[in-house]
Amino acid sequence: MTTGQRLNTIYQLLLERFGPQHWWPGETQFEIIVGAILTQNTNWGNVEKAIANLKAADALSPNRLHVLHRDRLAELIRPAGYFNVKAARLTSFLDWLFVRYQGDLARVEGRGTSSLREELLAVKGIGPETADSILLYAFNRPVFVVDAYTARVAARHSLIEPPFDYPQLQEVFQSNLPQEVSLFNEFHALLVRVGKEYCKPRPRCEGCPLEDLPHNVEP
Ligand code: SF4
Repeated sequence: MTTGQRLNTIYQLLLERFGPQHWWPGETQFEIIVGAILTQNTNWGNVEKAIANLKAADALSPNRLHVLHRDRLAELIRPAGYFNVKAARLTSFLDWLFVRYQGDLARVEGRGTSSLREELLAVKGIGPETADSILLYAFNRPVFVVDAYTARVAARHSLIEPPFDYPQLQEVFQSNLPQEVSLFNEFHALLVRVGKEYCKPRPRCEGCPLEDLPHNVEP
């Protein structure tokens, strides 16, 4: 079986069990971007509280957030944790958006995917996972997002041999799957789901949708 076929089997089993995950939660493109930055090192429930605060303050747009005082921004996003660091990251993102694109996300749309990825990675505090989440979920670019959950499932199902880094893991998915935004969107969300519910640091293989596939951990 090729890697592509194995990935497809994993995807189908996860989808069959969990159904569509409807990612990324967010009413607007900008809200998705803000969520991607805020979700670093915290759970989604905390991000939702921070986003609700931004909405209540009528601050969830590039223009409004850009003129908000840094201290006020930090206060509003406090529930997301590391709020001073994240306020600085949001400010760096907005500075980039306004300097390069006049604060207009529609202008960003014209940028090619690899150039846009490089630009995002150059924004202070935006690493590969956040940049790729923004590319995939906010800009609908066919970029596969990988994370700790993906790494665990991939290693335990021998899709990749440790040690590996982010680009190597990403390459396993990107070079063996059709370059489809909807597939990348759903697959990443499903891997997060199985990682949270079953493929934890100590795996719970019994009852996992992938338990009948060969895997290299003791259940
Ligand atoms: S919990 Fe076990 S069966 Fe499920 S994905 Fe992880 S290693 Fe595979």
